[in-house]
Amino acid sequence: MAQFEQSGRGSIKRFAQAVLDHIYPPACVNCDAAIGTADSLCPECWGGLRPITSPMCPVLGLPFEVSIGPDARSAEAIANPPPFRRARSALVHNDVARTIVSRLKFGDRPELAKFCARLMYGAGAELFENGDDEQKPVLVPVPLHRVRQWRRRYNQANELARFLGRLGNMEVLPFLVRRSRATRAQIGLSARQRARNVAGAFEVTPDSSEMIAGRRIIIVDDVVTTGSTVSALSKALHKKGMANIDVISFSRVVIGEDTVI
Ligand SMILES: [Zn+2]
Repeated sequence: MAQFEQSGRGSIKRFAQAVLDHIYPPACVNCDAAIGTADSLCPECWGGLRPITSPMCPVLGLPFEVSIGPDARSAEAIANPPPFRRARSALVHNDVARTIVSRLKFGDRPELAKFCARLMYGAGAELFENGDDEQKPVLVPVPLHRVRQWRRRYNQANELARFLGRLGNMEVLPFLVRRSRATRAQIGLSARQRARNVAGAFEVTPDSSEMIAGRRIIIVDDVVTTGSTVSALSKALHKKGMANIDVISFSRVVIGEDTVI
C-alpha cells in the first residue's frame, strides 16, 4: 500500500512537472534559449563558462596558467595570507557568470541557486569531505543586512547554501552570523576601500558558538571579488574561537581573466 502511495505520488509529481514544462518550457538560465531540462544552460552558454580547475593556488583557489609545483601558493596568498584556510570557486567571474549571478540576486529567481550549487559542489569537493573527526563541515552563508534581505525577499547565499547542504548532507546555519551594521554596496570600490567597508560588519550571534565548537565551517557566497567580505566574516568567527574555516563561491574575480567587477 505504502509502495502504491509512493508511486502514485511520483506519477502526480511527474505529471505536474510535464504541465509546468508545457506552460513554462525549460529555458537557458543565461540567454533564455529553449533547452531540454530545467535549471541548466544551452550548449553555447556552457561553452562560455570558465571553470576553475587545477593548477590553482591551494589557498586562494586562483587559477595558475601553468603548474608551478604541487604546494606553490599565489603571490597574493604569500603577500596577504587570508584569515581562512582555503577558498574554492566554480567559475571565473566572466560575462556569463555575471549574468547568472545578477539573475540569482536581483531577478527574483532563487531556483537558479540549484544550478549554481551543483557546479559549486563539484568545485569544492575537497572542502566537503568529512574531517579527521568524521564530521561533516557546517555551511554558513554570508548574511545580508536585514533591511536588504527584506527588500530582496531572499538571500542568494542562503539559497546556495541550502542546495549545497542537500547535495552534501551538510547542516546550514543561516543565523550563526549576522551583519551588525549596514554596509554600502562594494561595486566600484578599490580593494582597500572594500576591506574598510566591511571591517567589523559581522558578528557571531550570542550563544551560538558553543553549538559549533570544534566543527569545520565553510562560508558560502555567490561571488568572491577581492575576498574582503569573506575575510571580515572569517575574522568574526575567529573572535569566537572558530579557526577551521574554508570558503566556497559560485564565481571568483580573476584579474586579467575577462575581469568584471
Ligand atoms: Zn544560453
